Amino acid sequence: MVITYDHKVVEKKWQDRWEKEETYKTSASKGKKRYVLDMFPYPSGASMHVGHLEGYVGTDIISRYLRMKGFNILHPMGWDAFGLPAENFAIKTGVHPDKETHKNIEIFKRQLIASGLSYDWDKEIDTSSPEFYKWTQWLFIKLFEKGLAYKKKSPVNWCPKDETVLANEQVEDGKCERCDTPVIKKDLDQWFFKITDYADRLISGLDGIDWLEEVKTQQKNWIGRKKSKKGTTYHIHDWLISRQRYWGCPIPMIYCEHCAKLQGETLQSGWYPVPEDQLPVLLPTDVDFQPHGESPIARSVSFQKDVVCPTCGKVAKREVDTMDTYVDSSWYFLRFCDPKNTKEFASKDKIIPVDDYVGGGHVVQHLLFARFFWKVLFDLGYINKKYGDEPFLKLRAPGWILGPDSRKMSKRWGNVVTPDDIIPKFGADTLRVYEMFMGPFDIMKPWSITGVEGAHRFLGRVWRLFLNFQHGSSLSTAKAGSSDEPITKDDSLMFSNSVVMAKMNKTIKKVGEDVENYKFNTAISSIMEFVNVLTNRKQPTANDCLVVLAKLLAPFAPHMMEEVWHEVLGNKESIHLSKWPEFDSKYLIEDEVMIAVQINGKLRGQIRVKNEELIDKNKIIQLAKSDEKVAKWLQGGTIRKEVFVPSKLVNFVI
Ligand SMILES: [Zn+2]
Ligand SMILES: [Zn+2]
Repeated sequence: MVITYDHKVVEKKWQDRWEKEETYKTSASKGKKRYVLDMFPYPSGASMHVGHLEGYVGTDIISRYLRMKGFNILHPMGWDAFGLPAENFAIKTGVHPDKETHKNIEIFKRQLIASGLSYDWDKEIDTSSPEFYKWTQWLFIKLFEKGLAYKKKSPVNWCPKDETVLANEQVEDGKCERCDTPVIKKDLDQWFFKITDYADRLISGLDGIDWLEEVKTQQKNWIGRKKSKKGTTYHIHDWLISRQRYWGCPIPMIYCEHCAKLQGETLQSGWYPVPEDQLPVLLPTDVDFQPHGESPIARSVSFQKDVVCPTCGKVAKREVDTMDTYVDSSWYFLRFCDPKNTKEFASKDKIIPVDDYVGGGHVVQHLLFARFFWKVLFDLGYINKKYGDEPFLKLRAPGWILGPDSRKMSKRWGNVVTPDDIIPKFGADTLRVYEMFMGPFDIMKPWSITGVEGAHRFLGRVWRLFLNFQHGSSLSTAKAGSSDEPITKDDSLMFSNSVVMAKMNKTIKKVGEDVENYKFNTAISSIMEFVNVLTNRKQPTANDCLVVLAKLLAPFAPHMMEEVWHEVLGNKESIHLSKWPEFDSKYLIEDEVMIAVQINGKLRGQIRVKNEELIDKNKIIQLAKSDEKVAKWLQGGTIRKEVFVPSKLVNFVI
């Protein structure tokens, strides 16, 4: 192993190896499954910043930890690829949304891989691919058949400038959120999903799941159920899913005016689903994106070619609206369970609920819609009853990472930090450790380059610890017996082996519990303490301790730990597939020592100190000063000298 740690070389080496050896592939059979999922991103042209990465690193640590605990981890990533920004970019530049979106996906994917995230890329999905949206269309048809999709003329928010319908949340103070033009009301025939039928179950289902109370409250407020003498009322409306936009999933419906006449002129008359064997209805490419007050697809010639009524066989027309992109993101997590299935949206045998779901931002509606879809599919028998009718068993949201100036990261303030600003200089392991050490996972916290440097120094200490071990052990082979001797003559400030063992076992317990509870910052703190004990030990560090250290740190700093696992500890298999260490509870008993506290040489009190804190001078002096009896004696006097005899006594001269 080389002396200096070259993160560029080491990180690339292991990223390539992991990909080649399919280290993170979800196995089809072995082990109990756990589904750990990030809210998949919209691949925007603005690229990813370090705030987006926070949640991804959190789920990555959980995935790596659980994998080492023997679980078969489903941890996939994909792209919420349809959406307005790419279409607006196309209107401005003429670059096709498909091209722009896939260029952005490449950038996002490179950044995720460079960050050392353990996704099973074999399961990657892209909502704009026909293989995916075929099933989005199939789901629409299932809802239609069940009477949960219907047409309704309704006043919609209309932006005269963008010439499109706006959802309520796209309207701010009566103005279009995109262009500030005053919004007008306009009557249009729109497709709706009847989510109101599920309002009560969307409330009652919240009782059995592990979500933050405030997120549950947001769901309840959105549904807005009120009971009075006259009846029960709801705030929630049916879900308007029609969009007069190009870059979305075509709605798989055909309108036949001949049938409509026979059925009588209602809004539902003459509408038929596209027969399943004709799916997907492909998004046409002979379209220009400029708004003309109607859906861009209406001007495609190819789209309406040879369309016939599924019932009477006469010439008919396709629906030209596309679906709200929330429809894609309401079921993508099901597709991850079985992403290559060409016969079904996902096999019933493979669908499992998400154990850990992580993401933040404006997700009230996403959660509501996704829960609605799961419930509909559950009722239709597509989901195994044993899983119940809620899709996300545990939900957590990372807190925002603010810019170094404590403002929200934004181009406007010039305070955006991206992984590309940090990884080339410090490495992905440093970025990961820093982001998890910044503070509690779920609170807002400002970026600090000093903090990044601190994380970098910590990993440097870890590296040297392994390096010293390697040199020490080669020395001891040459000179038998030398490894039993203390490495320093002045060992009063060094930890004995029993302290090291106690610390190691406590750290194993603490890191496991913390990771399971998303307390990544305190997990790292305890690893730092363990590293400190190992650095100041009496005897040279035993191989066992370093094996444990490497494993505990592996989820946080996966590249460096993989390197020492192979190059120092001599293993052949990946550390990320090794077994998580177990603690021995006989070491968990707190060993404490009584330390005498003197004032001017006279015994005035005694304090209880943990073994592992015996050499922490500052801490012990503080403890001594705050002891009730000692404090009385110190009152009014000025401490002129503090004498500290490790493991024995403290003497204050006043
Ligand atoms: Zn507008
Ligand atoms: Zn017909």
